[in-house]
Formats: sequence, structure tokens, C-alpha cells
Amino acid sequence: MDNLNVINHPLIQHKLTIMRKKETSTGKFRTLLHEISMLLAYEVTRDLPLTTTQIETPLKPMAAPTLAGRKIVLVSILRAGNGILDGMLQLIPSARVGHIGLYRDPKTLQAVEYYFKLPQHIEDRDMIVVDPMLATGHSAIAAVSRLKEVKPRSIKFVCLLAAPEGIAAFSKAHPDVAIYTAAVDEKLNDHGYIVPGLGDAGDRIFGTQLED
Ligand code: URA
Repeated sequence: MDNLNVINHPLIQHKLTIMRKKETSTGKFRTLLHEISMLLAYEVTRDLPLTTTQIETPLKPMAAPTLAGRKIVLVSILRAGNGILDGMLQLIPSARVGHIGLYRDPKTLQAVEYYFKLPQHIEDRDMIVVDPMLATGHSAIAAVSRLKEVKPRSIKFVCLLAAPEGIAAFSKAHPDVAIYTAAVDEKLNDHGYIVPGLGDAGDRIFGTQLED
């Protein structure tokens, strides 16, 4: 698939394996997600446009490369997206940040927006939308549809794990939005969880899972 980028760097794969283990603690899970997010940020920003600025080194003046245009905007799909945000911000500290919160109405099954806050000048910014799990793709598709309304210069979608079903649905709805993921798993189960996956990403990041 043209718009799918699987970032199978050995460091990412090793860290992801530890995250998948059911015995991995909340603290360790969060730290690993932070580290992987930095590595994903490195890959997803690989093609950012550059310009030059005139500087002076201790030895001589030079035209040195700098990032062109307005600051990137990272958009977290609440709440699990926040787990990816921190690591990305460590690598791109001047990025602007937006948040989008959606829930599924149990009657209509439609995505309902409960939070939406973005920085200004979106039309001049490249947008990176983050959510750890691309499962059915429903929330990512709805979030990106909503974000397209504000017309960012470009949109990329970054997740940690993706299911083939989610990739297919997302690519159909948004063929123009590249997906970056650390791994593509086997399938979804009947509850919409990615298998083998890592469980509920939000619960594992925030430690909100029920005790055994
Ligand atoms: N959301 C999660 O947190 N985990 C899954 O496996 C699927 C969706």
C-alpha cells in the first residue's frame, strides 16, 4: 500500500516487544512509548522542507539549513494520543499542539466530538496526527475528516500498532494521508482489539486497567 510506512527499526521492534508483554508495568510502558515516539518522530519528519539562514561559525560565515515555514502542529487523538505526544515534543520542542476528542454515540454509532482545540494559522502548517492504535480505524478516520475541514498544508498519521482492517479502512477514506506505524499485527478480534497487540493502550499508558 502506497501510503503505509512501517518503521521496523531494530530499536523500535525491541522496545515494542517489551511493551506488548502483559507483565510490563505502567511506568515502563510509558517510558518505552516515549522512546519509540521519538524514533517515529525522526522518521515522520524525514521529508520536512528546509531553507537556509545566514550564520557565522567561529571560523566563517555560512548559509546553514533550517526548517522552512511555520511550526509543525502535532494533533493528539484523546486520550491515548497523549502517550505519543510527549516523546514527539521532546524531538520537536517548538511544535504546536492540538487535541481532538471523539466518542462513539452508542445509539447512532456516529463519532461525536467532545473536544477540539488547535493552534492558529493551520492552513500554513504541516500536521501530524497521533494515536497509538489504528484498530477499526473509525476514530482516526473521523478525526482526520474533521481536521481536514481546517485545511492544514499536509496531514500524516502516526500510530504504534495497526491492524490490516484499520489500514484498509483508513486508506480508503483518506488515500492522501500517509500512515506511519511501528508494526502491522495479524487482525482485530470481535471486540475491536488488535491481536496480538498490547491490550488497551490508554489503560496501559495511564494505569487505568482493572486489577486482576
Ligand atoms: N484500542 C486499544 O487501545 N487497543 C486495541 O487493541 C484496539 C484499540
